[in-house]
Amino acid sequence: MFRAFLKVSDCCPVCGEELHHHRADDAPPYVVITIVGHIVVFAMLLVEKTYRPDIWVHIGLWVPLTIILAIALLPPVKGALVGVQWALRMHGFDPNSPEALEAPPGAR
Ligand SMILES: [Zn+2]
Repeated sequence: MFRAFLKVSDCCPVCGEELHHHRADDAPPYVVITIVGHIVVFAMLLVEKTYRPDIWVHIGLWVPLTIILAIALLPPVKGALVGVQWALRMHGFDPNSPEALEAPPGAR
């Protein structure tokens, strides 16, 4: 459903479902921050309590892990949120809503 890393295609290439109605906005990063924060903070506290490593070990572990997890989770989380909006017929995904008549961004 993506035509670039986080750019949602206007339409599904398989069935033609219009996807440009989604309004994911800031929700994907918000959800990713929540997930990554819980994973990294839990692991960080566990390692600190168990091994008491030097601060450079913490920096070398948690900074790359945080960046990798955030980048890896953004596309599936955004896809899931667009899917939720579609399933709940939010925004223009409801064919009877006024937003459903909006043209795709490129067609304006
Ligand atoms: Zn489709």
